[in-house]
Amino acid sequence: MMQTPLTMPQMIKRAEKFFPKKQVISRTSKGIQRFTYKEIALRTRKLADSLQKLGVKRGDKVGTLAWNHHRHLEAYFAIPCSGAVLHTINIRLSPHHISFIINHAEDKVLLIDSDLVPLIEKVQAELKTVQAYIIMTDEKELPETTLSPVYHYEKLLLDADANYEYPDDLDENAPAGMCYTSATTGNPKGVVYSHRGIVLHSMALGLSDTTGVSEKDIAMPVVPMFHVNAWGLPFAAVWFGTTLVMPGPYFTPKLLAELIEQEKVTITAGVPTIWLGLLKELDEGNYDMSSLRAVLCGGAAAPKGMISAFEQKHGIPFMHAYGMTETSPIVVISTLKSYQEELSYEEKLDLKAKQGILVPGLEMKVVGQNGEVKRDGKEMGELAVRGPWIASEYYKDEWTNEAFRDGWLYTGDVVTIDEEGFVKIVDRTKDLIKSGGEWISSVDLENALMAHEAVFEAAVVAVPHERWQERPVACVVLKDAFKGKTAKEELYNYLQPQFAKWWLPDDIIFLEEIPKTSVGKFLKRELREQVQKIICKKIK
Ligand code: AMP
Repeated sequence: MMQTPLTMPQMIKRAEKFFPKKQVISRTSKGIQRFTYKEIALRTRKLADSLQKLGVKRGDKVGTLAWNHHRHLEAYFAIPCSGAVLHTINIRLSPHHISFIINHAEDKVLLIDSDLVPLIEKVQAELKTVQAYIIMTDEKELPETTLSPVYHYEKLLLDADANYEYPDDLDENAPAGMCYTSATTGNPKGVVYSHRGIVLHSMALGLSDTTGVSEKDIAMPVVPMFHVNAWGLPFAAVWFGTTLVMPGPYFTPKLLAELIEQEKVTITAGVPTIWLGLLKELDEGNYDMSSLRAVLCGGAAAPKGMISAFEQKHGIPFMHAYGMTETSPIVVISTLKSYQEELSYEEKLDLKAKQGILVPGLEMKVVGQNGEVKRDGKEMGELAVRGPWIASEYYKDEWTNEAFRDGWLYTGDVVTIDEEGFVKIVDRTKDLIKSGGEWISSVDLENALMAHEAVFEAAVVAVPHERWQERPVACVVLKDAFKGKTAKEELYNYLQPQFAKWWLPDDIIFLEEIPKTSVGKFLKRELREQVQKIICKKIK
C-alpha cells in the first residue's frame, strides 16, 4: 500500500473542494453570521498567509484564547496546515497558570477574542516569547489595549494572499496542536497532538458505532474549543463537510435551545452541567428538539436521571462517552449492541450510564492489584489505554514517567469492566475535583490552607453537587492554640486572593483529625464519606 501522510491540509481542502456550499453558522457579538465552507477555506488560507508574514515558522506555537466561533475554526486549520502548532488556552485557568502555559509552550503569536484581552493584559509583563497579539473582533477598530504589537484579525485578512498554498511535505508525526490539562498539584501538563493523531481520531468520530458524525449532520460543539479541541468535533466536521453551529461566547441554556431549534442541530456535545441547564430550559419552555439524533455527553459522569429525562421525557437520544485531554479524547462510548436493544429501558439505562465500550483503533486494559481484573463489572482497577491518538508523554514535564509506562497511558481513572466490555468509572486516583467540567486541584487548596498560621492540617474532597457535579469542601484541623478562635470567614478571606472564585470550597468544616492511611497519607475515600454525613446532617 502507499504510505501517504495523514496530515491536516487534506481535511480542509476536502471541505473546500467538495462542500463549498455547506455552512458554518457562527454566533458572535454581532449576532448570527453565516459562512460557506468556500469562504471559511479562503479565510483560512489568508490567516495562514498572515501568520507566515508575522514570522510564524514550522513548529512554532500559536496560542488561541477564544470561544467557539468561525475565527477560532479558521485558526484550527490555518495554524497546523501551515506547519505551526495550534495551542488552545483554557480561558478559565488562573492568570498564573495562563502565563505559565504560554511561556512553557513558547507561544510566538496569540490570537485573542476581544472580550478576553484583559486576561492577557494582566499577565503581559510575564510573557517571554510572544511576539505579536492578534485580536479577533467584530468591530472595525481594535479595542483600547496595552498589548503590543497588536493586530486586527480582519485587517490582516484583508491584506493577505487568498492563494496561499499549504506546504505539501508536512510530516504526519509532526505536532499539529497542543492543550494543557490540570495536574494534581502545581502547573498544568501539556499534551501535544500530531497530524496523524488528529486525522485518525477524526475518522474514529465518523464511525457509525461511535458518534457517526457525517456530512448529513448539523453539529454544535458546546464543549469549548479550548477543551481537548472541542473533543475533536470541529476537525471531523470540516473534513466530512458537516454543517457546523458555533454557539459563541456567554451562551445560556435558552440560547442553546433556540440554536438547536432554529438551525435544526442533529448532534451536540458538552459536559453534564450544560445538559442539566438545557433540561431545565426544556422543562420550562416550549421547544422543538426533534432534529436532535444525539446529545453527546462526557467530561464527567452522566447521571441516570439526566439520561432518562432526555430520552424518556423529551425523546432525545443520549450518548455517554469518556476520554481525556491525553486521549484526543474519545476512548469509550456507550452505544448499545444490537441484541442489547431488546433489553428493558431500565436495563438499557444501566448500560448507558456506564461510559461504554472501547472505540475501534484503541487497546485497553484494566489493571488491579493482581494484574488485569476480571470482566465481572465488580473488580476495580486502573484503566490503561494505547493507540494512535493517545499521547505518549507530557510536553517537557516530569509527570511523564508516572502516567506513561510500558507503552501505555495510565489514566488515573478507577473502573470496572463487565462481561460485555462496558467500562464504568468508579473513582479516580488523581487528587482533582471536577466542577462543571473544569478541574480544581485539591492539593493546591490544601497547601494554601496549611500555609495559614492557624491550620494544623487540611484536606479537600469532592462532594456531589446537583448543578456542578462536584464541588470542593475543605476539612481543617486547627492548631490547639487557635481552636475556637479562628472562623471560617478568616480562612475564606485568606484563600480568596490566591484562587479563582469558583475554586473556593463550598464549605470549610472543622474536624478534630483527618483520617489517614498506615503511611500517613490522607484517606480521602473515608473523609469523603465523613463529609457527606456531616453535610446530610446539616441539611436535615
Ligand atoms: P479532561 O482531560 O479535562 O478532559 O478530563 C478527563 C477526565 O475527566 C478523565 O480522566 C475522567 O476522570 C473524567 N471523565 C471524562 N469523561 C468522563 C465520563 N464520561 N464519566 C466520568 N468521568 C469522566
